[in-house]
Amino acid sequence: MELGRLLFLFSAFATHAFVGYALVRGLTDADPRLGLVLGLLPDGDFLFPADWGWPFVHRGLTHTPLFAIGLLAGLYLVSRNRSVALAGGLAIGSHLAIDSLSPMGIRWLFPLRTAWNPSPGLAVHSPAATALLWTAALGILAFRATQGPSHDRDPTTDKQEYKDEQPTATPDATAELE
Ligand SMILES: [Zn+2]
Repeated sequence: MELGRLLFLFSAFATHAFVGYALVRGLTDADPRLGLVLGLLPDGDFLFPADWGWPFVHRGLTHTPLFAIGLLAGLYLVSRNRSVALAGGLAIGSHLAIDSLSPMGIRWLFPLRTAWNPSPGLAVHSPAATALLWTAALGILAFRATQGPSHDRDPTTDKQEYKDEQPTATPDATAELE
């Protein structure tokens, strides 16, 4: 693979992972690493062997709303945690949303095998678009950072702490804030 193509792919992967991470970190209480992994997951289709054929191709099965819905249903069934399901939805949804704007688009109506592609044909991984996406993701992270330390902790621990709240901070809690 030529260097330019390799750099393009690396930049695209990093952008999807970072956008997923920022959305989950900024808007949910789930582990942001989930956003990183699921933001990147659809492009796992690059690993399908070439002889598998449709829909196990790039921008095939893993780039469809049906796949996303199935994955989220599975995630919810396993975790029984709405925050985790929401995090998964944001991460994989952001990947499909970005790719759907590219010239190749995504397969909206899978399993129907139609060529319908309402994409506006934007260069979503061009340097300008990449800078825009990274700025937006950094903005979400910066916004989250202003929201105070309670958001930094596991929500279950938070609930526990509110219940047993003491009038003075314990040395442990102070250490955690640093
Ligand atoms: Zn993709």
